[in-house]
Amino acid sequence: MVNLGTPLGEFFGLALRMTHQDAPEPDSPQQGNNDGEGASRPWSPLPLLYASAAVHVGAAAAALARPHVWPWALGAVAANHLSVAAAGLWPRSQLLGPNWSRLPAHSGVAAGVAITIDDGPDPDVTPQVLSQLAEHRAHATFFCVGVRVERYSDLAREIVSRGHHIENHSHRHRHNFSLLGPGGMAAEISRAQDSILQVTGSRPQFFRAPAGLRNPFLDPILARLQLRLASWTRRGFDTVNANADTVYRRLANSLQDGDILLLHDGNAARSSNGKPVILEVLPRLLDALAAKRLRPVTLRSAL
Ligand SMILES: [Zn+2]
Repeated sequence: MVNLGTPLGEFFGLALRMTHQDAPEPDSPQQGNNDGEGASRPWSPLPLLYASAAVHVGAAAAALARPHVWPWALGAVAANHLSVAAAGLWPRSQLLGPNWSRLPAHSGVAAGVAITIDDGPDPDVTPQVLSQLAEHRAHATFFCVGVRVERYSDLAREIVSRGHHIENHSHRHRHNFSLLGPGGMAAEISRAQDSILQVTGSRPQFFRAPAGLRNPFLDPILARLQLRLASWTRRGFDTVNANADTVYRRLANSLQDGDILLLHDGNAARSSNGKPVILEVLPRLLDALAAKRLRPVTLRSAL
């Protein structure tokens, strides 16, 4: 258990103080006998959070010692809040905690590229994605939404039975996820964790925030739940861009060993012929990997 009882300053107007009640321990009866079980990652504040605490203390001290400087002190605090918020709006940022935007160099996975597929399972799209992956003998990482795993439980089990991995993409994929406090954020993550474990028998080891947006509360929650944050090296914006050529080029441009690529089977945009964009992009992407002698691997294989 990570002790987060020490206030570290205020972010978004909320004290960064987490209690046991804010973030309940997952108590699934199945936990403990699954792959990847281990101790919580020790959590300690990152330099940005120490700097933020120093700005707050310094601003308060300056305003007390020399009251006429209060506008400058207030400005410093406001600028600090903006910088922390900006870090949370930058999905590939490392400023708010460890974040896989590439496969780690020491992973031992040589010539590997991780294809990650978000927002499913989707009863129309996911089975076709699974067929395309099987045709290429490829494995992928599916960042699934908890409520969809519960609703399409057979499909979730099929994903795992075919050798792919399902990871945690929150329970409801709330669009205001990055604005949640520690209690709400922990509930979203731990409920998905429990649902995916109960449906598939496999405990997620990675988390990806909805739209990649987060705030400083996230990293201590992930540490306690033994989850690693994963973003991506490149994404195709395939929920909003219906042009398969454009999506493909964004992903396949300068493919390299260690890339993490993002596509969507849930919320997939439809191309001009009505086909989900991922189904037009994925076979071309897998061919491009093969041509460069790069292997499609899962994130877990790089642990
Ligand atoms: Zn998503």
